[in-house]
Amino acid sequence: MKITIFGAGYVGLSTAVCFATKYDVSLVDVDHEKISAIKAGKSLIYEAQLDELLEKGLSSGNLRIFNIEENIPPSEIIFIAVGTPSDQDGYINLQFVRNVVKTIQKRQKEILNPNYSLIAIRSTVIPGTTRRYLQHLEKRGNIGIAFSPEFLSQGTAIKDTLYPCRMIIGSNTAMASTFLKSFYTNFYGEKIPILQMSIESAEFAKYAANAFLATKISFVNELANIVESVDDADIGDVMDSIGYDPRISPFFLKAGIGFGGSCFPKDVRALLQFAQDNLAEKPSLLNAVLEVNENRPLKVTKLLREHLGELDGKIIAIFGLTFKPGTNDIRETPALSVIRSLWRNGAKIHAHDPIIDRIDLRSFSRYGVKFFSDIESCLTGTHACILLTEWPEYQEISINKLVSNMAQKIIIDGRRIYADRKIPVDVCYLTIGSSINRKNHLPFNHTPNKSSNNLKSFDAPLSIDT
Ligand code: NAD
Repeated sequence: MKITIFGAGYVGLSTAVCFATKYDVSLVDVDHEKISAIKAGKSLIYEAQLDELLEKGLSSGNLRIFNIEENIPPSEIIFIAVGTPSDQDGYINLQFVRNVVKTIQKRQKEILNPNYSLIAIRSTVIPGTTRRYLQHLEKRGNIGIAFSPEFLSQGTAIKDTLYPCRMIIGSNTAMASTFLKSFYTNFYGEKIPILQMSIESAEFAKYAANAFLATKISFVNELANIVESVDDADIGDVMDSIGYDPRISPFFLKAGIGFGGSCFPKDVRALLQFAQDNLAEKPSLLNAVLEVNENRPLKVTKLLREHLGELDGKIIAIFGLTFKPGTNDIRETPALSVIRSLWRNGAKIHAHDPIIDRIDLRSFSRYGVKFFSDIESCLTGTHACILLTEWPEYQEISINKLVSNMAQKIIIDGRRIYADRKIPVDVCYLTIGSSINRKNHLPFNHTPNKSSNNLKSFDAPLSIDT
């Protein structure tokens, strides 16, 4: 079986190296720099196991890499895995998918197998896209079309690609569906559920999954905001306790700085715009999911100002630039919003990330950020440290070591990784969704929080008549 994948990004490259463990894979991209690096065995993407599998694929000859202008050998399965970013208004931008379709159309004899080829979109696209872009090709015969969404999560991309929870095939013909199913069964074995459905249901399923996960995150973060106004309450305990209910499940219930990355924000925005165009109204829940999320990073600056006073001239250390651990992706990372807001308030910013050498730092540089690959140097002389990405390296550090060279010992833990630790008395530890540590470290100009425990009808202690 020969496979061609268009798009050598997070999805395309991860998929290519995994399928190349068994099949002949041609990986194609328009980005010459990216292709030269991959050809030389260097991935610009940081993912566990990716470099080893890339090396294996190239040395076995199973994986071949092509610039779009080069001659692409014919394949039975063509996957389209190019980007589908948001445009300025939040609509999905389908130009990259469109360009691939044009290339396939123009170079059919070269790219497709003359007996039968299946073209499957794996990029996330709004319902109706696959049919709109591919149906005219299908009509020419010997071509099947499908939509098969990608559910990998960055940070665990290889594991997710090799051992997915399920595969979905959206197709309008039994032949296309059976063809792709037999390919997946051959690769994954019988244990992975393979769900077959209409193209549009499959397109919708991808949005449903991301919108649900984003909603879960914003729901927990909204509760975290409320919990903060209640003395002695902690969102971690609250969520742990509800996670035991099987209808809720314990996963994805952690309060934090909010979601970022290349998928949740842009997919919720695209679904919102799609719904608005089709229903003539904005779905209010999804709108609120984005609103809660956009406000998260700003809360950090507010919290810092409450405890440190004016930020002008203060040096603040940022721990973690990527939107999550295990990836070098900084698309829509909360770190950028936090840094921008600190910079606007006159702060000087030090930043550390365990894989700082693999991150494209240009978007942070304009805010005068000083970058460090060493944790201690990053913290020296700083007035506060804000933790934004829960890299294991940060979890392993002792709090005493962390604060030893700081000018002021303030830690804002945007991911609650130290929430269960014993915090030294001279450290001001503030985390999301908890008032417990805050009350031990009153902010400058502190006035009692009127809303805190403001249970109006129980203002006075209950007296019990005997
Ligand atoms: P990406 O931006 O990392 O990679 C896209 C690649 O496509 C780039 O290398 C780009 O140069 C290339 N490209 C653009 N036009 C091309 C063309 N005409 N021919 C060949 N290559 C071309 O994007 P990604 O993160 O891999 O995401 C790809 C798609 O998968 C998106 O629709 C995304 O929503 C979806 N998805 C992403 C993830 C994720 O975690 N990143 C997970 C599930 C689904």
